[in-house]
Amino acid sequence: MFDVAIIGGGFAGTLTAVHLLRAGITNLALIERRPPVGRGVAYGTHSEQHLLNTPAGEMSAFADDPNHFVEWLGDSWWAHFAPRRRYGDYVAAMLAAAPGGWRGFDDEAVGLLPEDGGYRVRLRGGTIVRARRVVLAIGQFPPAPLKPMAGLEERPWYVDDPWSEAAVAPLPPGGQALLVGTGLSAVDVAISLLDDAGAGHVVMASRNGRLPMPQLTTAPYKDWFHPDTAPLRLSQLLRQFRAEVKRSGLDARAVLDAMRPHVPAIWQRLPWVERRRFLRHLRSRWEAVRNRLPQPTAARLAELRVGGFITIMAGRVASLADAPGGALVTLGDGRELAVARVINCTGPDMAYRRINHPLILDVVGTGLGRWEPLGLGLDVDEDYRLIDDDGATTPGLYAVGAPTKGRFWEVNGVAELRLHTRDLAARIKADL
Ligand SMILES: Cc1cc2nc3c(=O)[nH]c(=O)nc-3n(C[C@H](O)[C@H](O)[C@H](O)COP(=O)(O)OP(=O)(O)OC[C@H]3O[C@@H](n4cnc5c(N)ncnc54)[C@H](O)[C@@H]3O)c2cc1C
Repeated sequence: MFDVAIIGGGFAGTLTAVHLLRAGITNLALIERRPPVGRGVAYGTHSEQHLLNTPAGEMSAFADDPNHFVEWLGDSWWAHFAPRRRYGDYVAAMLAAAPGGWRGFDDEAVGLLPEDGGYRVRLRGGTIVRARRVVLAIGQFPPAPLKPMAGLEERPWYVDDPWSEAAVAPLPPGGQALLVGTGLSAVDVAISLLDDAGAGHVVMASRNGRLPMPQLTTAPYKDWFHPDTAPLRLSQLLRQFRAEVKRSGLDARAVLDAMRPHVPAIWQRLPWVERRRFLRHLRSRWEAVRNRLPQPTAARLAELRVGGFITIMAGRVASLADAPGGALVTLGDGRELAVARVINCTGPDMAYRRINHPLILDVVGTGLGRWEPLGLGLDVDEDYRLIDDDGATTPGLYAVGAPTKGRFWEVNGVAELRLHTRDLAARIKADL
């Protein structure tokens, strides 16, 4: 029996493994359905054009060693946006350098049941992995299905996963593509289609047509926000934030960055009604400011827009229909577009309830875990332990990263995940 089985070998699973190995817990299983480990969705891209959205100097995997990534990559990268592929190499190298052995399983976990004071993880290929403790580090899931057309998934011109090779596969020369979404992934896909896949024109459409803001180059702002005394109403928080932006005379992004380390604390203090209000009214604006475009990507996007190769549209997609060579798209305002490909870039689906994955269904179906009340992953306590059907913590079953978004809100960026993985590993060590 393993001491710990980690399901998911993206950044969160791999860094949890690194911390456990460094803490002497080496009887470890790491299960990843899309090997190699260390990459996950973000750092598994093959494109050199897909850049980290934070300068290399801020991307250390270890909070207590802020220069770690730059020392690995080379000092000249300090203020630059490195290719995400290189970051995957870095994370994999950290695992290779960690002391002690671990065992990798290149397979998908499809079942989880309690057994003999631990757990029994069933893999798709039939292997059973037994472990005293289990960590769900399963990350983000591709976007929720688009509504306009039944049977969309079977259409050859439709791609439901913006991070798949299919999204950026060659198009007929000069072909047009529609990207539903205008966030970071949509920008990456648009640039890849135009620069590498032969596309002639890309339309990016989302309800508000809002693009992520570019990264800032200003010096960091002071630590101005105090979660313990912060107001617990969203409207007052917003007022406080705006007043601080005015007082600082700085760009709102700098003020927000200084607030970011406190976000998990304030999120957990906010009443449910305020969290719901945030999700309904502020989320898209927050994400446009919080998830920024690396400057080289922002510059390339601007060039392509000025050249007329990318059009950004605000509005919904009313209907999609088969047409010769692709699809005919009708937008909410009646405009029609003939496209060779439609790619769903609406952002990761956080509603685990909708994701019919057998592993998650097992966790919830057997009552080991339950849905997070706002539909943001699974319910966990502050020690990353799953909360069961009756509201009690489930011993020995943990989650980190995307499944814990409802509890901490900030769980996606390396800046937060390096803390969560460190704290989780310490928690598991104490528990063992
Ligand atoms: C396109 C993109 C770009 C990003 N760029 C940045 C950036 O520049 N800087 C930054 O700080 N953050 C960035 N992020 C945020 C990013 O999500 C985190 O930095 C981090 O990579 C998340 O890691 P994770 O392990 O939680 O999730 P993931 O990367 O999604 O990894 C989860 C892993 O679990 C595996 N898995 C899932 N289910 C199973 C199963 N049942 N059995 C076995 N394996 C399973 C998956 O195959 C996957 O490899 C980006 C995110 C995306 C999507």
